[in-house]
Amino acid sequence: MEPKHKIYIIGAGVSGLIAAYELEQMGYHPIIIEQTAEVGGRVKTIQEKGYALDLGFQVLLSAYPLAKKYLDMDQLQLNKLESGAFIYANNKSYLIGDPLRNWKILIPTLMSDIGSIADKLKILKLNIQLKFKSLDKIFASPEKTTLEYLVECGFSSKIIERFFKPFFTGIFLEPDLSTSSRMFEFVYKMFGEGYATIPELGIGAITKQLQSKLHHTEFMFNCGVKEVTNNQILLQSGETIAHKGVIIASSPASLLPGHKSPTIAWKKCMCLYFEVNQTNIPANTIALIADAGNYTNNLYAYTDAATGKTILSATTVQQKEPSIEKIIEKVIMEVQQYTGASLVHYIQHYEINFALPDIKDIKMTALPSNSKVLENVFVAGDYLFNGSLNAAMESGRLAALGIAETQR
Ligand SMILES: Cc1cc2nc3c(=O)[nH]c(=O)nc-3n(C[C@H](O)[C@H](O)[C@H](O)COP(=O)(O)OP(=O)(O)OC[C@H]3O[C@@H](n4cnc5c(N)ncnc54)[C@H](O)[C@@H]3O)c2cc1C
Repeated sequence: MEPKHKIYIIGAGVSGLIAAYELEQMGYHPIIIEQTAEVGGRVKTIQEKGYALDLGFQVLLSAYPLAKKYLDMDQLQLNKLESGAFIYANNKSYLIGDPLRNWKILIPTLMSDIGSIADKLKILKLNIQLKFKSLDKIFASPEKTTLEYLVECGFSSKIIERFFKPFFTGIFLEPDLSTSSRMFEFVYKMFGEGYATIPELGIGAITKQLQSKLHHTEFMFNCGVKEVTNNQILLQSGETIAHKGVIIASSPASLLPGHKSPTIAWKKCMCLYFEVNQTNIPANTIALIADAGNYTNNLYAYTDAATGKTILSATTVQQKEPSIEKIIEKVIMEVQQYTGASLVHYIQHYEINFALPDIKDIKMTALPSNSKVLENVFVAGDYLFNGSLNAAMESGRLAALGIAETQR
């Protein structure tokens, strides 16, 4: 097939890489302009002091429809996390999970003091209800906050405080469960229908794999874009590039002069990494601190593939201390107090100020034409739908389809 003229994509995160992939399938040879030195955006694994550290603890839910479409899961060598969580509350720890998936967890789940038996039966009921609720139905349901939704389902305040709040704080990156019930149902369904997974070589293996699938895409790294008009891209360097089509796969707010892009509010978090001598956290299980007043929300222990050392990631979503040093100090104390680690060696921390878009109107998808902001300019990014890898992929797919329609 004769290559068609160039389409530019601004941003080499998940949405930009998927847009490039889809454009290649339609015969285009796109050019990705990326301000940093590599692909990945928010999905990166960084080599730091000899360790491979994810830029923020995150998981790939294997049931995401678009992950199934675009990723070679076998090649990613996914480590499956156990369903459920290891919860610290009131000087005790509890292992809870879905006994339908792992019968060994039935007794500890029933015995755990994180909610009543009725709560636990309601969890099972919710699992079954959401199994039979289609994604279309979920995203067409009226929106309320997740907290309102859980209260309406009849869950007690005990199980909300001890399980739902800490678990979903780590996912939504906000502590109040104010995120839309659509997002709750979506994520809950995805957890129920697949696994939370992390590639053996870190989350960045996902975007590296997407990059490796591109055979006709050119990359311009270390190249920031300052402005985009209908027919020209202005780079930070002052250079201009004429274009016939651009996909902005990054936040468009400052790039489109005179265009009223919605301002996106962002949720932030901090992820800290430690090397530890031991932990009491069961293998492949997310641990949650349910006691109020702590910095750390969730913890995850794993073996570093290169060094064989035990690494602990700690995620905090509320950083009230004035200095990083104080936060590190406080988190180390919590790690020692809860996980039983006596040697806690600080490795690195990442403050992620633009972690997840704070969206009120959560969506699954839209028409390709909805991505259009100017005649020749389309947008992609998770912020258009919901803060997830699935949404980033869907937005990239739609922007590619949309722009291709205008090029005919
Ligand atoms: C800590 C954390 C935890 C998360 N947990 C999960 C999870 O468990 N499960 C899940 O599904 N999702 C999770 N997510 C969300 C998921 O990572 C994102 O939805 C997804 O990566 C967004 O991809 P994107 O392409 O929309 O944006 P980005 O990844 O932000 O990509 C935008 C790219 O554009 C580049 N760029 C920006 N401006 C310019 C410019 N002016 N010029 C050139 N290049 C530019 C950036 O450098 C970047 O590479 C998490 C995210 C974070 C940060």
